[in-house]
Amino acid sequence: MKVLKFGGTSVGTVASLINVKNIVDSLEEPAVVVVSALGGLTDRLIATAKAASQGDMSFRTSMLEMSRRHYDIIDELVPADRREAVTETVSALLSQLEDIYTGLALIKDLPEKALNQIVSFGERMSSVIVANILENAEHKDSLEFMKTEKWFNRDIAARQLTDSLIKESFALPLSRTVVTGGFISRDKDSGEITNLGRGGSDYTAALIAAALDAGSLEIWTDVDGFMTADPRIIPDAIVTDRMSFIESMELCTFGAKVIYPPTIYPVFHKNIPIKILNTHNPSAPGTLITDSSAGLSENVRGVSSVKNTAMVSVTGSLAANVAEINSRSFNAMARNGISIFLVAQPKNDVAFSIALAQSDVERAADILREEFAPELQSGSVVDVAVENNLSIIAVVRESIKEIKGLGARLVNTLQRDGITVKAISDGASETTIAFVTAVEDTDNSLRLIHAACYGS
Ligand code: ASP
Ligand code: MG
Repeated sequence: MKVLKFGGTSVGTVASLINVKNIVDSLEEPAVVVVSALGGLTDRLIATAKAASQGDMSFRTSMLEMSRRHYDIIDELVPADRREAVTETVSALLSQLEDIYTGLALIKDLPEKALNQIVSFGERMSSVIVANILENAEHKDSLEFMKTEKWFNRDIAARQLTDSLIKESFALPLSRTVVTGGFISRDKDSGEITNLGRGGSDYTAALIAAALDAGSLEIWTDVDGFMTADPRIIPDAIVTDRMSFIESMELCTFGAKVIYPPTIYPVFHKNIPIKILNTHNPSAPGTLITDSSAGLSENVRGVSSVKNTAMVSVTGSLAANVAEINSRSFNAMARNGISIFLVAQPKNDVAFSIALAQSDVERAADILREEFAPELQSGSVVDVAVENNLSIIAVVRESIKEIKGLGARLVNTLQRDGITVKAISDGASETTIAFVTAVEDTDNSLRLIHAACYGS
């Protein structure tokens, strides 16, 4: 049994939905199909919520346009005998949505709970529509089995509960294909509607695949697979036909937009292969991600970048005691739920230097100042400094250290072109060499590194 996930651009237009129908209707056995909201709809739902909550009555026009888009697809693609029922279901959802917008316009506020409800309508509608476009499929409401719990103010999947609810909800072997909405969930305690974060439909599909021990997870998107770099920046980028789970995880963590990063772990754990495929070009071979890096090319698997990065560095003579400073810093970050993108190699009197999301850096600096308050007072730590507006460029391949001298060679390549490498992480990870540069050097650095690795 396979789990197939179709993203927003795959379900966004009549033409692409016809491709989805052809792909799913020609499967040899029933499958689980996870869908996103119609392409661009989640952004639109959010923008409309913001307008409504400022008392801007144009939310009504926006409602009409969003409604029309769904009704047009129903009229074009849902068979006549089901059209009325589907129209009724979708119209009930749209009227609930309109009520919420009206409420926001009255209270002129946008509580998080309301926004969570609003964005859920995208997948609630698209999943019902897709289920009824397919030849022989039923709809299942993912709010019944996808559960989240709070973690430092964020909603994260309640893995064990979700796993057992999925097992209960899907009787195997499936007698018909089941279509369900990605991204959306409910809090396991309060029952309130939540979600798995932007791009989270991939994760829904992965959790279902893992719970049901699927044979494979297919992510159907609008590109031919993982590319050696973002093709919008590097027109020479080519599709990477195969990579390992670890490599795909690293590339996604470092900015590749192909899959939502948390997606890989649950299927990796169960050793379920992932395929990245293109709904608009279904015969392209795509990228196959498995547990093995045996037989893969010697070259690196890809180059990616993350903007919105900042660094925080601790300087002082305590630098001599790397083990202590590292363990205290890492523990402090972990206790506060801050994730670290990379740990820079220490240099000079910089004892400890990490790159992390711009949005976390001030908090991280405060936490480190608190952690090292005694040393700041005694003088063995002189500063906890923040540097903003940075990017990380990552080069990924398992056992990347086997490529002798790669890190140094790439640093030279960048420096020759006048790019300042602010930090390098070469050695901490078995899979990634990463460089920190100023954000305005991102695209140029990617180009230079891609050319150095792929010779174009
Ligand atoms: N519709 C949601 C979003 O746009 C989830 C997804 O597409 O994966 O973020
Ligand atoms: Mg996506």
